[in-house]
Amino acid sequence: MNQPKKIQTSFNNRQILSLVKQYGSPIWVYNAKTINQKINTLRKFDIIRFAQKSCSNIHILRLLNKLNVQIDAVSLGEIERALLAGYKPEKDEIIFTADIFDKETLKKIIDLNITVNAGSIDMLEQLGKKSPGHRVWIRINPKFGHGHNNKTNTGGENSKHGIWNPELALPVIKKYKLHLVGLHMHIGSGVDYYHLKKVCSAMESCAILLNQNIQTISAGGGLPVPYKEKESPIDINNYFSLWNKTRKKISNYFGNNIKLEIEPGRFITAESGILITKVYVSKTTKNKKFILIDAGFNDLMRPVMYGSYHQISIITADNRILDYTRTMKTIIGGPICESGDIFTQNQQGEIEERDLPEIKIGDYIIFHNTGAYGSSMSSNYNTRPLIPEILIENNLPKIIRRKQTITELLQLEIDTY
Ligand SMILES: *Cc1c(COP(=O)(O)O)cnc(C)c1O
Repeated sequence: MNQPKKIQTSFNNRQILSLVKQYGSPIWVYNAKTINQKINTLRKFDIIRFAQKSCSNIHILRLLNKLNVQIDAVSLGEIERALLAGYKPEKDEIIFTADIFDKETLKKIIDLNITVNAGSIDMLEQLGKKSPGHRVWIRINPKFGHGHNNKTNTGGENSKHGIWNPELALPVIKKYKLHLVGLHMHIGSGVDYYHLKKVCSAMESCAILLNQNIQTISAGGGLPVPYKEKESPIDINNYFSLWNKTRKKISNYFGNNIKLEIEPGRFITAESGILITKVYVSKTTKNKKFILIDAGFNDLMRPVMYGSYHQISIITADNRILDYTRTMKTIIGGPICESGDIFTQNQQGEIEERDLPEIKIGDYIIFHNTGAYGSSMSSNYNTRPLIPEILIENNLPKIIRRKQTITELLQLEIDTY
C-alpha cells in the first residue's frame, strides 16, 4: 500500500519534536480539540456515554465530564476512575456494564447506588437479592453480531455478552422489584448500514416483546473511525436517523418519550491520539528491511492482537527531506523479545511491509489514531514500564500520566520478597 506524504492530523512536526525533547520517547499524545469536535458530532443523541475502556486516563475522563458526556465503567477500577474524574453516581452519570460481578464490585455498586447494565440474568439475581429496587438496564444479545474482527464481535450465539432470552429476565426483575430503566444493545465495532437496520429492528421488537415501562434505549458503541488511508468517516446523520426512527416507534408504542443514548469509545478518542516512537535499529535479512523502534506491543497492542492497521508517518531527526518517490518495503518492529512484535502485520499475523521512504536511526515514527485502545491496553510485558501520556489542551501540552518507574513496577513483588 502506498503511503501518502501527508497524513491528516492535528499535530505538526515542530510540535512533535518539541514534545519528544521535553518528555522523551516513546510517548502517547492526545489533542483535546479533536475529542471536542468528535463529541459535537454526537450532540443529537440525548445522552452521550463514553466507553472509558477505550481511553481511561482520568484527565481525559475529566475533560469529557466537562463536556457533559456521561460514563460507562466495566470494572471496579473504572468506577474508581470515573469517581476521581468527578462523575456523580447519585446523578446517574456512571453506568456499570458487565456480564459478571465480583464481590468487591457488587459491594461498591450497592454502596454508591450505581446503575447496572446487566449482561446476565445471574447478575440481576445477585444484585436483586442484596439491593432490591436497584436501577438496572438489560443488555440484550440480538442473536446476531458484527465486529471489525472476531475478537470484537459482541453478538450472536458465540458471544459471551448480553442476555440471550431477555424475557427470562423479567421474573427476576419482578421478584426483586428492580427498576428497569433501559434496554441496551452493543454488537461490536464497525458499522454497515444494512446491519445497523437489523440491530434497530431487533431493539424495536425486543422493547415491544418485553413491554416494560422503560425510559431509555442505548445504541451501544462500535462506531468506526477511518484507520486506513482510503477509509471514509461514518455518516453520523444516517446513523442517528436510523436509531431515531427506532426510538420514535418505541416511544409511539408506549405513548411516552423514550430517550436515545449512544455509547462510543473509539469514535470519541481514537483520532485524537498518536504514539511517538524513535528508531534505534535498521537491519536487513535476505530481502527484508526491518526498522526497530523503542515502543513494543506491550505499548500498542492492536496490530498484534487484531492485525489492526495504523497509519505511519516519519519525522527525520536531521532535517532531511523525505523522498516519497523512492520508497522501499519496510517492516516496523519493537523491542519485545517475541517475533510477533511487529506493527505492520495483518489479521492472520503475517508480516505486511509498508512502502516508506528511507528511515534512519534517530528518526521518529508516528503511529496515528492511537487514542483508543492504545494506552488503555498496554501491559508490563517484558518488564517494560508504562510510558507517559500527554494531553494538548488550548495548544498547551500537559503531562497526564508520568512514566512508570521500574521500581514501582517491581514493588508488588518486592513487598512480598
Ligand atoms: C467496548 C464497549 C463499547 C465501545 O466500543 P467502541 O467500539 O470503542 O465504540 C461500548 N459499550 C460497551 C458495553 C462496550 O463493552
